[in-house]
Amino acid sequence: MKKDDCIFCKIANGEIGSDTVYEDDMFRAILDLSPASKGHILILPKEHYDDLFELSDECGERLMATAKKVALAAKKALHADGINLVQNNGEAAGQTVRHFHMHIIPRYESDDKTMVAWTPHDSDPEEQKQIASAILKEIKEL
Ligand code: 5GP
Ligand code: ZN
Repeated sequence: MKKDDCIFCKIANGEIGSDTVYEDDMFRAILDLSPASKGHILILPKEHYDDLFELSDECGERLMATAKKVALAAKKALHADGINLVQNNGEAAGQTVRHFHMHIIPRYESDDKTMVAWTPHDSDPEEQKQIASAILKEIKEL
């Protein structure tokens, strides 16, 4: 399904122009309007999914192969030293556009590397066991 008021639906389906770097029947990959680095790309499904939790399995399965292809082309074309794949779900995770998208962010040795970062904390072995068992339990119920 497409969503009428969704800008990424319009871009993915060619109603609004974009700097497209890849297109097939399921995806369009475009340059990000406010790039984190030179060549920052977004892979957009042509169907509307708010986020990862709505994404169809078929789309999810093809996504990684598509990301690999586009990332490799970007790495070669731009002589990038590395690539980050980033995918945000929900406001708390930094998602600002509610149409699923995967970021492909080329990295260069000269980058400030502040974009994809977190503060590592010490972990408590007992708490780690509890967390793992809570997630395992949910997985069994899916
Ligand atoms: P999010 O924070 O939701 O993971 O990422 C949204 C991304 O979409 C941001 O990096 C932002 O710069 C990009 N973006 C937002 N609107 C547009 C647009 O109209 N065109 C393009 N090409 N990128 C956009
Ligand atoms: Zn959409």
